Amino acid sequence: MTIQHKALIPATLIPGDGIGPEVVNAAVAVLDALKAPFEWDMQLAGVAGLQAKGDPLPEDLLASIRRTGLALKGPLTTPIGGGFRSANVRLREAFSLYANVRPARTIVPGRYENIDIVLIRENLEGFYVAHEHYLPIGDDPRAVAISAGANTREGSRRIARYAFEYALKHNRKKITVVHKANVLKILTGLFLEEARNVAREYEGRVQLDDRIVDACAMQLVLNPWQFDMLLCTNLFGDILSDEIAGLVGGLGLAPGANIGKDVAIFEAVHGSAPDIAGRGIANPLSLLLASGLMLDHVGEPEMGDRLRKAIHLTLNEDNIKTPDLGGKASTRDLTQALIQRL
Ligand code: NAD
Repeated sequence: MTIQHKALIPATLIPGDGIGPEVVNAAVAVLDALKAPFEWDMQLAGVAGLQAKGDPLPEDLLASIRRTGLALKGPLTTPIGGGFRSANVRLREAFSLYANVRPARTIVPGRYENIDIVLIRENLEGFYVAHEHYLPIGDDPRAVAISAGANTREGSRRIARYAFEYALKHNRKKITVVHKANVLKILTGLFLEEARNVAREYEGRVQLDDRIVDACAMQLVLNPWQFDMLLCTNLFGDILSDEIAGLVGGLGLAPGANIGKDVAIFEAVHGSAPDIAGRGIANPLSLLLASGLMLDHVGEPEMGDRLRKAIHLTLNEDNIKTPDLGGKASTRDLTQALIQRL
């Protein structure tokens, strides 16, 4: 008798730095236990890439992603100030990962229950183009700090279309476009205008409304249930996705996907958490939820559902939680318990 094996899917694995290797190891152990069909190509990046290869984004890593078109990524530290541009931002640019998808769903009831919001963030434009410089006045060379943002009509239309297509595919009914078109009239006005243009093509199927970012931030605290999907410019999406992560228990439960035409990279919303790195207490669930999105992406949604169900049972039935969720479990305890629940 011959046993049919599914073809393995090549995927790049980036442990990252800080708590990255701890949560990536946990995710790989769980994916192995699930018999997920990934064939990993491990690549260094961030501080680890800098130390080993002199670049936070080594060419080997880029070549690997070019080959696989798929990656699971741990967080990468970006030193504040100084000469280094964020390796995360460079990675998005290198592969034109224009859509950042950040779902927030209640798994453990906390301050809020039944939250289910998907935030779609434009991932390449806005203030993240980092056209920044100083202007000198008198003998102060850094008297004025200037930053210019750029939103293109094409980029705004592309992300709006992505959001509407996502809504159709996932049976979502309403998209709220977030802007500051009362002040940043041109930069965020164009984004709003294109969202409205695209919305016309989807009339009767998906509804569009809009909020000014500050009002949206407040409404998310007062009545988050009014939101179904949020469509945001790069900076506002970065900020509001942490806010919606807060509605469901914090950064330990917040996954993200960076999607382009040819490449998709899955990661946690959180960073490298240097304050707890190396202590074995990092919550691996954000990266595991991101692994679930990756399974959905490669056409294994049943496996993704098994993973999500196991996470739900481990937290709610077994009450095994890491300290960020008020528990005492280590990364390893949680991972072992989760594997028992698969
Ligand atoms: P952070 O997300 O690393 O940490 C914020 C707080 O949340 C810290 O107190 C941390 O301990 C806690 N936290 C984060 N993830 C956790 C987890 N899985 N389990 C338990 N607690 C967790 O944000 P930061 O401190 O502002 O950034 C640290 C570094 O990470 C910076 O260099 C930043 O640029 C980088 N960063 C990278 C990414 C990425 O790789 N995508 C995203 C955000 C920040």
